Amino acid sequence: MPRVVLNPARDLDENTSLWQATAAPREALPPLAGDITADVIIIGAGFTGISTAYHLARRYPDRHIVVLEARQVGNGASGRSGGMALNWINGVHADTPERARRVYGATKAGLDWIASVIAEHGLNVRFNRIGCLDTYTNNQRAEEAHESAEKLAAWGIPVQYLQGSALESRVRARGVVGAVNDPTTGQLHGLDLLRGLVPILQGYGVRICENSPVVAIEEGKTHVVRTPNGSVRAPTLVLATNAYTARLGYFTRGVFPLHSHVIATDPLPLERWRELGWGDTAGFCDDLDRIAYASMSADGRLLIGGGGNGAYSYAYGGHTAWPMDATAQFTFVHNILKKYFPDAADVRIAHRWTGPVCATMTRVCSIGVTGEHKNVFHGLGYSGHGVVLANLAGQVICDLYSDHHEPWRDLPFYQRRLDGIPPEPIRWVGYQIYTKLTGRSPRKKIADDV
Ligand SMILES: Cc1cc2nc3c(=O)[nH]c(=O)nc-3n(C[C@H](O)[C@H](O)[C@H](O)COP(=O)(O)OP(=O)(O)OC[C@H]3O[C@@H](n4cnc5c(N)ncnc54)[C@H](O)[C@@H]3O)c2cc1C
Repeated sequence: MPRVVLNPARDLDENTSLWQATAAPREALPPLAGDITADVIIIGAGFTGISTAYHLARRYPDRHIVVLEARQVGNGASGRSGGMALNWINGVHADTPERARRVYGATKAGLDWIASVIAEHGLNVRFNRIGCLDTYTNNQRAEEAHESAEKLAAWGIPVQYLQGSALESRVRARGVVGAVNDPTTGQLHGLDLLRGLVPILQGYGVRICENSPVVAIEEGKTHVVRTPNGSVRAPTLVLATNAYTARLGYFTRGVFPLHSHVIATDPLPLERWRELGWGDTAGFCDDLDRIAYASMSADGRLLIGGGGNGAYSYAYGGHTAWPMDATAQFTFVHNILKKYFPDAADVRIAHRWTGPVCATMTRVCSIGVTGEHKNVFHGLGYSGHGVVLANLAGQVICDLYSDHHEPWRDLPFYQRRLDGIPPEPIRWVGYQIYTKLTGRSPRKKIADDV
C-alpha cells in the first residue's frame, strides 16, 4: 500500500536553531538520484536514525544502509532541542528499587554511550556533563521531590536534593525553592554529535542522502521508498521520523506533534551569568505540567523553551512546522526568562526557533517492529525527553533487527502500543478546550509501574 506524504512547506521548520547557527559549516550531502537497492532504509537523520545507522553498520559491515533525510542531518528535534541529555523515560513511574534502577540504568547507559562514541572517534562535540536539575517552585512539590530523591539515593540512584546555598550555587532563579540534581546528565550540542558521526558512518559504507524527502512508501516484503528524484528498494525499513511519522501514514492515532518554542540569548561571560543567577549547572526543567526548560551553551548563551499554553502549541492537521506567526509564543517564552531571571531581562535574544515534540497520550515512547512482514522498525514518541532515548533507540532497533529482544523486553518502551489520539477535528478542538480550561496538555494516566 502506498503511504504518503510530507509537504515541505507545512512540515519542515524554516527557522534556525542555536545549534544550527553555531555548528561548524559543512557541504550538503548529495540527494538520492536514481533507483537503487539496499539492505536497510532509514528515514530521518536525527538521533534515532543516525544512532541506528551507527549500530547496524558496526554489527553488519557488509549490509548496505541508506539514510534518507528530507533536509539536513539534524533538521528535526535533534537539531532544535533544549539540549538537555537526561535520564529516565518520560511518563514512567517506577516504585520499586529494582524497577527504578532498571529504568535509570538503561538511560544512563544511553548517556554513557554518547560520551563513549565521542571519545572513541575523537569527535569535537560540546557536551557539558556537569548535571541538570529538576527545579521546584512550590513548597509542597519540593518536599515531595526531597523525599523521592532520598528514596532514590537509598536505592543507589545518585540524585541529590538541593536547597539554600547548595541550590544557589547551581541556579538562583526567582521562585525556585528546591531542586533535584542528577550529576550524570548534561547539555549536549546535538548537531556537533550528528555532524561528527556523518564521516564515521560514511567510512562504514553508510550512504546518507540529504534533501531527499520520502514522498511515498510502498510497504511489503521488499519496501519501495520514493523521493522526488529516486527510489530505494530494501527488505527493511526504519522509521526514524519521530514527530513527522504520522505524515508518512504511520502511528496516526499514536503520536501528535506539539510545537515547542525556544529562545537563546547573546553569549555572556560566565561571571556575568553568575551575577544574573546562573551557576554550576548544565540546565533545568521546572515542575509544571507544561514545563519550561533552560540550559547554558558552551559559549554562554542562556536557552529557554516551553513553559505554558503560550509556547506549546498544536497546529490543525498535525503539521510539523509551526505554520503561523510565532511572535506571541516567543514573547511568552521571553517572559519566562524574565520571571526566573529578572536581572537578565535586558540581555539580547539572538535566536528564536520552533521544533516538533512527538507526544504520545501517556508520554511513554515506543521502540519496536511492526508491519505485515515484521520488517518496519521504529523509535518515536519521546514526548520532549528524547535526547538520550533517541540515541539509545539505535542500539535497541539494532538488537531487534538481530532478533535479539531479551535485553529490552522488560522496558516500558519495548513494542509499546501507541494509540488513543482522536482524529481531526475532534483532536484540535479537544486540545484547544482542554489546554485553555486546565493549562495542561491532555494525557492519559497509566499504572504506576509500566
Ligand atoms: C524544541 C524542543 C526542545 C527539546 N528539548 C529536549 C531536551 O532538552 N531534552 C530532551 O531529552 N529532549 C528534548 N526534546 C526532544 C528531543 O529533541 C527529541 O526527542 C529527539 O531529538 C528525537 O530525535 P529523532 O531522531 O527521533 O527525531 P528528529 O530529530 O525529529 O529526526 C527526524 C528526522 O526525520 C526527517 N524527516 C521527517 N520526515 C521525513 C521524510 N518524509 N523523508 C525524509 N526525512 C524525513 C526530519 O527532517 C528529521 O531530521 C526537544 C524537542 C524539541 C522540539
